[in-house]
Formats: sequence, structure tokens, C-alpha cells
Amino acid sequence: MGIVPESGRGAAARVGAHLDASAAADPHTLRAHNLGIVMRMLRDHGSLTRKDIEQSTGLVAASVTNLLADLSGRRLVRDVRGGGAEARGRGRPRVMVEQVPDRCLALAVRIERTRVTAEVHSSAGVLLDSASRSVTLAWGQPGDVAHAVAGLVARAEGIAADHGGLLLACVVTVPGPVSHENRIADSVEFGWGHLELVELIRAAGVPSELPLEVINDSNAAALAEHFALPLPRPGVMLYVEASIAAGVGGGVIADGRILTGGRGFGGELGHVTVDWRGRPCHCGANGCLSAYIGPDALLTSARLVDHAQLAGRQAAMDEFRARLTRGEKRAVDVALRAGDILGAGMRSVYDVINPTTLVLGGYLAGMRRWIEPGIQMQLAPRTEKLAPVAVESGRLGRRAGLVGAARHGLLPLFDDPTLVPPAS
Ligand SMILES: [Zn+2]
Repeated sequence: MGIVPESGRGAAARVGAHLDASAAADPHTLRAHNLGIVMRMLRDHGSLTRKDIEQSTGLVAASVTNLLADLSGRRLVRDVRGGGAEARGRGRPRVMVEQVPDRCLALAVRIERTRVTAEVHSSAGVLLDSASRSVTLAWGQPGDVAHAVAGLVARAEGIAADHGGLLLACVVTVPGPVSHENRIADSVEFGWGHLELVELIRAAGVPSELPLEVINDSNAAALAEHFALPLPRPGVMLYVEASIAAGVGGGVIADGRILTGGRGFGGELGHVTVDWRGRPCHCGANGCLSAYIGPDALLTSARLVDHAQLAGRQAAMDEFRARLTRGEKRAVDVALRAGDILGAGMRSVYDVINPTTLVLGGYLAGMRRWIEPGIQMQLAPRTEKLAPVAVESGRLGRRAGLVGAARHGLLPLFDDPTLVPPAS
């Protein structure tokens, strides 16, 4: 739905979007909707003139002024002097509108085996704080994770207070599937099954008013990589990442949100079947993509298992990459084959959700030169007749998960900026 006029006069004639009958009955909903559109424009473009906003929304100047006054009253936006006319030495400097850089904050927390890492990001994309805590996870037990997260929340509340900002959400990422009810279903890495981590974190002292969510780490990374793409961003994007530490993960982004399906377990692209009688996967199935392009599979095919035992798996993967760059035949063959297998998996996904972009993360990003030909060849029966798929390397690397978790936590602000009360 596009911009909807709050009072039909004036703006109505300019609006091409259809009016939603239920929304039309509720002025607050309309206002929230229109404020959200302005906030999303500022999120996506950084700063804009009032004229830019009028032209993009089709609203008259008075309506734009009114919406900006509302957002300004909540201390969400501010005026800044633009450089355009001033730099050319004529006329008055342009006044631009931008988000207040430290008003709305989200805390992103990544849980790993020995460490919990946290970052505080603002809705304007500013990183305000980063911190980490060592944790001890016994297999299958949450250990002191909940207390570590609660401590990081308290720290973030302090950062928000220092800036006169609001901490709007805490989003925690974990490896493995997480249900819509925030229940960690099965974390192979930690041995957590059906763990109610949110309840544990609340019990450790996080106030009930702060929205607290647990999501899958690859899904978070997918969302960050989606926002890192140039405008206009793809309607449906696939993300596949692979790393020594966490194996193969993935995510689907649709309409700017993580698509997790009916119960929350969607987007696990690493477990798409590429051979129904194939290699066993740790998930319990056979022939998952993960069993062919995961770190152990690649190191085995590249005959680097001994190297991994002597020097560690990361060193072995670095060696694989070095051999690839030198053009050594075995390494190149392994990478080309990985591209074929990944492409076959993505063809199945193409038929279900018709993505326009595939973003590669982790070590797959650095292998794109060798794996993209296979991906495109496998997709060709679809992409040549229907529509192409752009294959890109992720832009954010290891940072993607935390950036995406913060983005996810701030999405409600951009749907309804009135959740931030007027500033006193
Ligand atoms: Zn699997």
C-alpha cells in the first residue's frame, strides 16, 4: 500500500494507491502508515529534501511538513544543512532531513561456543557500542549465557540513556533453527534442544518491556546483506553462507523481512536435498547441500584432511583458497563441482520462491569466481526461459549477523514510528 491521504482534500487526487477500507476508518493507522513510509525513505537514502519526499510520496507540501513535524516531535528526524547549492556558491544552502542518528537503538547479541558478542546499532545505521563476554557452555546446557546477555542489555540501556535514546529491542542470534515462539529447536553446535532462552534471559533480569527475540544467525546475516544491496533491493533474495565454525547456513529475504515460514524453520538452504540417496548430513537426512559444500566436504575432496589435522581446519581452508588462487587443478575442480551442486540446490528453490538475487557469504563469497559458472549453468533451464538470478558476494563478511540482528529489531519502528512517544 502506498501513501494514504489522512484528509482526502488536496492529497487525494495525487495518490495512485488504493485505499484500504479498514485502514481508512482509523486515522491513527493511516498516520502511522504514512510516517513509516517517510522513515523508510530516510533509512534507505540517508538524507532527503522536503521536495524529494513530496515527489516520491505524491503528497502536497503541507502534508509532508505535517508528517515531518510529527517525526521531529518524537525526535526521530532533524534538519541538517545540505552541501548542494552552498558548494556551488549561490543561493541558500539546502535544508535536508535525516534521522536523528542516536535516537532509536537496538542491541544485537551473537552467541558462540565460548563468547557472546554484542553491538548497539541505531536506526540510522550508526554503531554506538560493541562489547563481548566469555561464556562457558556445557554441552546441552545454557551455562551462564543468560546472565551474560542480561549484563549486555544493562550496558546497552546505559548507552541509550547517555545518548537520550531509546533501546527498542534486543535480538539474540544462535546457530540452528529457532521457532516463532523463540524456542531454540535444535542447536547441533551447543547441544541445545527445545531451550527457552528468552525466558532464561528474562529471569536473569531483563525487563519485560524490552522486546527480546532469538533468531537464527544466518537469517540475521541474510537480512543485513539484503540491506547492503543497492536500491532497488530485490523482492526475494536468497543467502547461502558457509564457514569453518558453523558449516552451511542460509536465509530467505522477502519484502525486506526474514522469511521463516509457518513455524519459523524456513530458510535453511544448507539442507536442501541435492541427492536423495546421498551423503548423510548431521541433521539426520541424506544428500543435503551442506554435506557437499560444507567445510569438511570441501577439505576431504581437496585432500586437505591431513593438513586440517596438523594445522587446524581454518589453516587447511586457507591452504585450499591459496591453491584455488594459484589455479591448482584439484582445488579448481573441487570449487567448480561445489558450484554445480549449489546451483542444483538453488534450482529447486527457484521453482518454489523465484528469487531474483543469490548472495554468497562466508568462504563461498571468496569462491564466487569459481562457483558462479556452475550455479548459472544449473539455473540456466529456468533463468534462460523465465528470469535471471544475479549472483553476488556478500558485502559485510563476519559483521553481517550482528548488523542484521539490529536491523531486524528495528523493523517495527519503520512500520509504525508512533511506537516512539513524543519527546518531552
Ligand atoms: Zn541436512
